[in-house]
Amino acid sequence: MTAHPLPAFDPGLRGLRVGDVSITRIEDYHGPGLTGTGMFPALLPDMWEAQRDWLVPHFYDPQSSRLRTSIHSWLVVTPHHKILIDCCIGNHKNRPSDPRFHMRDEPWLQRLAAAGAHPDEIDFVMCTHFHADHVGWNTCLRDGRWVPTFRNARYLFKRAEFDRWDERRPDHVPRESQRFVFADSILPVVESGQAVLIDDGHVVDDRLTVEPAPGHTAGNATIRLRAGGDQALFSGDVIHHPIQLPYPALCSIFDDDPVVGLQTRLDLLAAAAQDGLLLLPTHFAAPFHCRVRAAGAGFLPSWPGA
Ligand SMILES: [Zn+2]
Repeated sequence: MTAHPLPAFDPGLRGLRVGDVSITRIEDYHGPGLTGTGMFPALLPDMWEAQRDWLVPHFYDPQSSRLRTSIHSWLVVTPHHKILIDCCIGNHKNRPSDPRFHMRDEPWLQRLAAAGAHPDEIDFVMCTHFHADHVGWNTCLRDGRWVPTFRNARYLFKRAEFDRWDERRPDHVPRESQRFVFADSILPVVESGQAVLIDDGHVVDDRLTVEPAPGHTAGNATIRLRAGGDQALFSGDVIHHPIQLPYPALCSIFDDDPVVGLQTRLDLLAAAAQDGLLLLPTHFAAPFHCRVRAAGAGFLPSWPGA
């Protein structure tokens, strides 16, 4: 089985439109990630070989055995609002468990400005979940304090996800990769009064709907966009890497509950194939998004423009 060939792509990914909504990818990182088995312990060499013609070199570097990955936000501009979906790693954050995330100094805000959005213009911030690579730019350092980066935004936090990571709860289950994240990227937003706790089914602008996607984290969500008769799905980390299209059973080491996460991934991919959804994950390397079709026991991508 083989996927369509990869087309030339726009590295900034501007001008993507769904109905009357424009979508721009705001990059925080694009390059080598973990090794294949470091990310997916059940990954077998045969899997790469079977899909090599479309996965190499765009999504996998066989020399280093490392995945090629991206960490980006989606800037969603509707006729009424500017909305950010997922907030990447952020700058100056103390992340001792991952050198890629630790004490960065990246021009992500300049990239956001180049895409046509000053931080003060952002109306809503939506995070699919609270992992360190999805909430970093929620806050920035100002005069030695963490403060919300987007002063006029409401931050829509899912209640179940907030509860999962609330370190003040007696039943809190910590994760080493999440050290400091709640304190530096979530609590300052609560303290500023900008956090709004929401539940599944929450709708923004009559176009964006928060949907449940548990497994990766307890309160993990996807966000479905309906506009102009077309549909897109901001799928966060339900699927990290294109190798999980033909092999959806591959679970990442970052899943809180891999069994639940697998069912969520299967359901999501089946719906994406059936409804022709444009899939907008957070970590696919270029060309960053695709549609999917059922193929054998799994799925394959159809890249835009192919
Ligand atoms: Zn992630």
